[in-house]
Amino acid sequence: MSDHRAGRLDRARARLACERLDALLIGPSPDLRYLAGYTPPPLERMTLLLITADGDTSLVVPALEAPLAEEQLGGLGVKLLVWQETEDPAELVASTLAAGGAARGRLAVGDRLWSAFLLRLQAAMPAATWSLAGEVLRPLRMVKDAAEVRALAAVGAAIDEVVERLGEWARPGRTELEVAADVDDAIREAGHRSVNFVIVGAGPNSASPHHEPTDRRIRPGDAIVFDIGGTMDGYCSDTTRTVVVGEPPAGFMELYEVLQQAQAAGCDAVRPGVPCSAVDAACRDVITDAGYGEYFIHRTGHGIGLEEHEHPYIVAGNDEPLVPGMAFSVEPGIYLPGRFGARIEDIVVCTEDGARRLNTTARDLVVLPA
Ligand code: ZN
Ligand code: ZN
Ligand code: ZN
Repeated sequence: MSDHRAGRLDRARARLACERLDALLIGPSPDLRYLAGYTPPPLERMTLLLITADGDTSLVVPALEAPLAEEQLGGLGVKLLVWQETEDPAELVASTLAAGGAARGRLAVGDRLWSAFLLRLQAAMPAATWSLAGEVLRPLRMVKDAAEVRALAAVGAAIDEVVERLGEWARPGRTELEVAADVDDAIREAGHRSVNFVIVGAGPNSASPHHEPTDRRIRPGDAIVFDIGGTMDGYCSDTTRTVVVGEPPAGFMELYEVLQQAQAAGCDAVRPGVPCSAVDAACRDVITDAGYGEYFIHRTGHGIGLEEHEHPYIVAGNDEPLVPGMAFSVEPGIYLPGRFGARIEDIVVCTEDGARRLNTTARDLVVLPA
């Protein structure tokens, strides 16, 4: 990791110059992890990475976390500005940025910086103007380097191991919550450091895309949507498969066949230069042509990396062209309210030759014994 950080800080600084900004202010967040490899606990004491256009990088850090910062930032040339419990870190930031004039200039703050910190910083630097760092960092974080693609492939393979085991848990008589608990354990067993979400939606609940598991019991004839993901070595997994327990309900097979074709069409549309919106359209056209258009109620996908949802978004209106290294989900769904729904989701990476799928479990409908 340390090998990438210096280059990332340099590129962030280059972006500052090109956006005519004076400094980037980044608190505990995926941005901080990306730029400096530093992951402090996101607590009430202010921690802030300051990157100025003139070349300095420093970290305002509470005294009790200075040893952690030393350990994680060693060798990167980041100057530690340590504040004691009774000092005001916002004043320390202001005096540091005053030196080069940045305290009265154009500052970009991390999108995830708490309002509690931002308001104090704004009070300490009333002459500054403020914008979001997300726009500065977006082009960097959106295109994954080789190490990031390897991390996404590894975490994708880990979540696929869990998908292979769904049949062990999804049986009639068991509740969504019981099944979700088993999936949760398995995600950790497969090597994830943390579980980010486990959606288990059975029967009519499969028609609610972000359903939270309940004590509803699985019945023969239920479609079940599993959308699961976690984090391993900082990078996120996210995959969805839909299974049926016993005889599929009337109309389900037809719906699923359309969905599978749509998901394949979306992946097939991926290649460098193609706008994100065209991938969404490729999925959506198949579903619309089959008469289910009004039941595909969300965008086709989202970027993924250090965060579950990040740029680029695969949605109508986003004409950002795909570039090799972009990683994102292709996850069309069709949801018939009160009846059933289905979704298929793979993470793909755009390569020179098109989409490389990082999730490779079967997409043909899996019918589990009732
Ligand atoms: Zn979702
Ligand atoms: Zn998902
Ligand atoms: Zn997703």
